[in-house]
Amino acid sequence: MKLVSACLLGIRCTWDGKDRCKNRRVIELLKREILIPVCPEQLGGLKTPRIPQEIQKGSGDDVLDGKSRVKNKAGEDVTAEFIRGAKEALKIAKQYNIKEFIAKSKSPSCSSDFVYDGSFSRKLIKGDGVTTALLKRNGIKVISENEI
Ligand code: SF4
Repeated sequence: MKLVSACLLGIRCTWDGKDRCKNRRVIELLKREILIPVCPEQLGGLKTPRIPQEIQKGSGDDVLDGKSRVKNKAGEDVTAEFIRGAKEALKIAKQYNIKEFIAKSKSPSCSSDFVYDGSFSRKLIKGDGVTTALLKRNGIKVISENEI
């Protein structure tokens, strides 16, 4: 059993409420494995659709350590919702004794490779999203959708 970013299965939980993050290879996995979908941003209380959000000049680890904030494009601080969503995803992983998470790339919550730099200009920096950082700190292996 694995945890998976819900949007990779085509669930319309992305910021714009569309299913554009659907990943065919991840959906194929459903034939062989039990995948539990989680959307940390929704679990944290953010609505769908929502204004796009980016970590401000940092990674998910920086957010967990209080060194960076998450803001949406309108300048509103959504750090608390991101941390709450990460904790909820971890709670689900622990509940089902799940040890792996399949992660949406480039997401400020779920990414395990790159995140946008906070300038909302499509500039990427290396780093994990907030949920991935928390899951890794708790011994959960995180696999990018690009590694499937
Ligand atoms: Fe997908 Fe994760 Fe963003 Fe939710 S928080 S839309 S699961 S990438």
